[in-house]
Amino acid sequence: MPFSTLSELKTRLDAGEITAVEIAKSYLDRIAEFNNELNAFVDIDPSHVLEQAQASDAYRASHEPRPLEGLPIAIKDIFCTQDGPTQCCSNILKDYHAPYDAHVITRLKEAGAVLVGKTNMDEFAMGSSTETSAFGICRNPWDTDRIPGGSSGGSAAAVAAALAPAALGTDTGGSIRQPASVCGITGMKPTYGRVSRRGIIAFASSLDQAGPMTRTVKDAAMITAAISGHDALDSTSVPNAPVVDWLAACDQTDMKGLRIGKPKEYFIDGMDQGVRASIDAALARCEALGAEIIDISLPHTNAAVAAYYVIAPSEASANLSRYDAVRFGHRCENPDDLLDMYTRSRDEGFGTEVKRRILTGTFALSSGYYDAYYIKAQQVRTLIRQDFIDAFEQVDVIATPTSPVTAFKLGEKTDDPLTMYLSDIFTIALNLAGLPGISQPCGFVDSLPVGLQWMAPAWREDLILGAASAYENATDWVKSPAKFGGEV
Ligand code: GLN
Repeated sequence: MPFSTLSELKTRLDAGEITAVEIAKSYLDRIAEFNNELNAFVDIDPSHVLEQAQASDAYRASHEPRPLEGLPIAIKDIFCTQDGPTQCCSNILKDYHAPYDAHVITRLKEAGAVLVGKTNMDEFAMGSSTETSAFGICRNPWDTDRIPGGSSGGSAAAVAAALAPAALGTDTGGSIRQPASVCGITGMKPTYGRVSRRGIIAFASSLDQAGPMTRTVKDAAMITAAISGHDALDSTSVPNAPVVDWLAACDQTDMKGLRIGKPKEYFIDGMDQGVRASIDAALARCEALGAEIIDISLPHTNAAVAAYYVIAPSEASANLSRYDAVRFGHRCENPDDLLDMYTRSRDEGFGTEVKRRILTGTFALSSGYYDAYYIKAQQVRTLIRQDFIDAFEQVDVIATPTSPVTAFKLGEKTDDPLTMYLSDIFTIALNLAGLPGISQPCGFVDSLPVGLQWMAPAWREDLILGAASAYENATDWVKSPAKFGGEV
C-alpha cells in the first residue's frame, strides 16, 4: 500500500476496503523504519497522526467524505501549524510553536486530510539540496549518497520513498519542481497568487508559492483544488482568479492540436546529455500523441539567475529582519547590551547560506546600490515576463528539462555557492514571471530520475495538468517508484 497514489487510497477508502487509521499506520511504520536513514521528516508525532486518522474515520461514519478524507499529507517545515513545532529547519526558530495554522493548512484540514509531520528543507528554503538544513542533511531514496534536491527535499524524499503518499512544498525559485525532478515524483508550482501565502514563513514574498508534491498529476490536482482560492488576509492572494476544473483537466489522454514550445535557451551545452536525450524522447512521445513541437526563444533566460539572486536575497533580508530575538527567534545567553543581543543571537541562529543571502540582499538594497542592483534586477524581471507573454502568442505550453542534471552527490556543490545557484537555471524564470509550472518524471540516466517541466500562461494550470496527464498516461515512469527499503 505505501506506494499507492492518493487517488488509489481514496478509491479504497470510499469503497470501505480500508480505514484512515490503517493507512496512517502503514506510513508511520515506514517512517519508523526508514526515516533515520533518509532524514526526510524532522518532526513527527505518531499519536497525533493516529488521532487525526481516527477523527477522519469517525467523520466518514456519519457524513459524506470530504475531498481528501483520511488521506495523509506530509508538510514542509515552512508552513505554520498550531500542532507541533514550525522551525523552517533553522536554529533561529528552534522549538518555535506557531500560534495559528497557515491558510493552506486550514484548507487541508477542512478537506479532511491527515497531516503527517514536518519535512526537512534547506534553512529558510534557501538552497537546492537540503544540505543547509540545521537539522541534518536529507538523502535521495534512489541513491542515498545523493541529494534529494531542495529546498523541499524532505517532502520529495518522503513521497519518493513512500513515507507519505503526498506532501506540500513551496517554490520560490524551483523548490517544488527541482526536488520533484531529482526524486522522480510530480511537483507543481501554481500561478503566483493562486494559493495564499499566509502562515508560510516568508523567504522572498514576490516569488514564494505553495504547491503539491505527489506521485501522479491527478494527485497534484487534488491537493491544489483543496489549497487554492482567495484569502482576504493575504494581499497577494488574487480575488476572482480564473477558475480551473482541477480534476477534469487531468482526464486528457492525447495532445491533439497542442502547440508545445521548445525554448532553445533551455537546451544548453553544459547540461547532462542523458537529461537532454530523455527530454527529446519525451517530446517525441508528445508529438506521437498529436502535439506540434515549435522551436521558440525566451531571449532573457540567461539573466534569470542573476536577477533572482538580487531580488530573492533583497526580499529575504527584509523578511528575516523580524528574527531579532525580541519578537521572534533564538536569543543568545547574557547579552552585554541591545546591539550585542541582536548580533550574537542572529549570528548563532542563522546558518552560513542564510547569512550570505541577508548580506547580499542588504547590500543590494542599500543607498547608492539600490538603482544599480535592485531596480536593474526588477527591469530584467519585466523583460523575462515579456519573453513568456510573447512566447505564449505562438504556443499553448512550454516544455523543458526541470534541472540540467540528475541528483548530484552530497557535498559536491556545498563549497561553491555559484555552482549550487546554477542548479535552478531552468526553474527560476518561471517564478520571476509568476507563472505555473509542473515537473513530472520522464526517464532515468544511470538509474537516477529525470524531470520534464511544463510551463503555462498565468491561471492556465489546466493546460499543463492536461499535457502532463496525457504524457503520464502514455508512459510508465510513475509506475517505477524508488523501491527504497526493499519489496513493498
Ligand atoms: N534554490 C533556490 C534558492 O536557493 C530556490 C529555493 C526555493 O525555491 N525556495 O533560492
